[in-house]
Amino acid sequence: MGLLTTGAPLSWTETVPHLPSLKAQGIEQFIKLWSLKGSLANFAMKFGDEIEYILVKMDPETKNARVLCEAEKVLEQLKAAAMEATPGEQSMAWNPEFASYMVEGTPGVPYEDSIAALLSVEPNMVARRNAVQQQLGETEICLSISFPSLGVGTFTHPPAAADEGNPEAAFSLLWPQEAVFNGHVRFKNLSKNITDRRRSKVSIHVPIFMDEATPSPYMDSPTTSGETENWNLEARPDHILMDHMGFGMGLCCLQVTFQAADVDEARMLYDQLTPITPVLLALSAATPCVRGKLVDLDSRWSIISQSVDDRTPEERGMVESATVTAIPKSRYGTTSCYIASSSSRFNDTSLLIDEDSFRKMVEAGIDEEMSRHVAHLFIRSPLQVFKERIEQDATKSTEHFETIQSSNWMNMRFKPPPLDAPGMGWRVEFRPTEVQLTDFENAAYCVFIMLITRVIKEKKLDFLVPISMVSENMERAQQRDAVLHGKFFFRHSVEKVSDSAESGEDIKEMSINSIVNGEVGGFPGLIPLIQEYLTEVVTDESTHVRLNAYLTLLSKRASGSVKTLARWTRDFVREHPAYAKDSDVNSEIVYDLMKEMDAISNHNKECEALLGSK
Ligand code: ADP
Ligand code: MG
Ligand code: MG
Repeated sequence: MGLLTTGAPLSWTETVPHLPSLKAQGIEQFIKLWSLKGSLANFAMKFGDEIEYILVKMDPETKNARVLCEAEKVLEQLKAAAMEATPGEQSMAWNPEFASYMVEGTPGVPYEDSIAALLSVEPNMVARRNAVQQQLGETEICLSISFPSLGVGTFTHPPAAADEGNPEAAFSLLWPQEAVFNGHVRFKNLSKNITDRRRSKVSIHVPIFMDEATPSPYMDSPTTSGETENWNLEARPDHILMDHMGFGMGLCCLQVTFQAADVDEARMLYDQLTPITPVLLALSAATPCVRGKLVDLDSRWSIISQSVDDRTPEERGMVESATVTAIPKSRYGTTSCYIASSSSRFNDTSLLIDEDSFRKMVEAGIDEEMSRHVAHLFIRSPLQVFKERIEQDATKSTEHFETIQSSNWMNMRFKPPPLDAPGMGWRVEFRPTEVQLTDFENAAYCVFIMLITRVIKEKKLDFLVPISMVSENMERAQQRDAVLHGKFFFRHSVEKVSDSAESGEDIKEMSINSIVNGEVGGFPGLIPLIQEYLTEVVTDESTHVRLNAYLTLLSKRASGSVKTLARWTRDFVREHPAYAKDSDVNSEIVYDLMKEMDAISNHNKECEALLGSK
């Protein structure tokens, strides 16, 4: 997660006097990077995934499942084991994440662009899961899911009390500091600086799923006795309320990064994949339980967005101000603009930019579209600055640029090559996919994203729709069962006509099934497009069979013949004998759910409803 440099972090108050200089240096660093790396070319396509896992402590006697806050120790052991790996073994790399019960695993080196590499994605994921599991005790499990009852009573192991009045923490009534990863200063500092900049706790509202016996109106309380006044935040009727960054950043996802041949190809891929991001969000939906309740959304996106919303009351438009410009969304939010020059006619929303940064980039000869993208990132403040490195040499460091870049969390990320990595080219990252329960599914989503990227490149397909429609699609993609009932703005003819074709004329609202599987006489479908491509490049029958198993899973998810993890989990809860039809996912249900998930993901228990018949 983001930049992991070390040192003595500045508090928000200490950061404020340095803001103009930090932003100016950040832009100078980007300009330098552009001049040094902008003309790099002929890089091979490469890719790599990131999976976030959680550690869970199971107590069979009390039937309790709690998050196990031992990531620091587990990571040390995983890193040591990875160093000792011998040639021929799966290579893997490990990183901390926001919560002290999370670890992030990636392949040790990125995959090459070959069909054989696609087949090695799943074995590497299996090896990674096993590696984590090996570090755990008998009653401890590793799952690639978002934990369903964060913030419910004592939800950590070892038990820890919530921060409450702790000014050094983020004042949460539900979340303990011990659940934030402590092995790197970034995480606690980021959480504290977000709260301090915003001038209040973060305030996360998620609509509750209204079941037969759910109290109506439902008012969320931080205590079991039901008072709502002591939140120090406004509870909304029929919404769950959460008050800490961890409720968002403590959830898990699957990301895929690609290396492009050069900067222009990276810009093209960034843009072309952007309209596909909401499709993958709906298709990967996996988060129907939040803070121990069934919710009326299926994915984590809007939760994270609210969990890191550092805007001041003036920026949020809650307090009128003659001097502060209102910012319409959180720094974690849907992509605001396309970045290739040829895409600019699809940028149909007004874009807030840091004018000073924009002017400097344009004066330095960077084109307007790229300057606008970076100047938009720079409307945000740096939240993670280290005392020792306030003043920097732009020929040696890009840290101030990276600090702002890596805390702008959007559908895609455009990643410039690091200054000090001669072998690395321009990359783009596909970010919204929800992590799946099993390695088979995670491999399927990763391979699908890789293959559609390949097809876009080879066939020069054009998926662009106005950026406002992508934002709308992201909203729709999070709704309950969006995969079955949602309609999404999408192009029905994707053969590129010309760069100047009128926008909007061939856009329709389509179901995920039509987008993924195609329509008779209409849009060909993402999977048929991939299959057509595969018949051209894959000659080996057994490879076809394996890749088709992945595509079949996604095809069936899109048609509804197998369930998303969100739907499967929702059904598991609602069919559980301890469920009282009141939206409450009590500790007994959570325990049984974790046990069932462990059996499916770690012991390969068959689950046709989720995975289809293999
Ligand atoms: P992030 O900033 O998104 O956390 P990471 O450094 O964790 O980025 O890497 C994300 C993924 O990118 C990993 O799977 C890694 O293997 C992959 N990756 C690393 N180098 C390259 C490259 N040159 N091209 C494509 N992918 C790469
Ligand atoms: Mg990472
Ligand atoms: Mg990433």
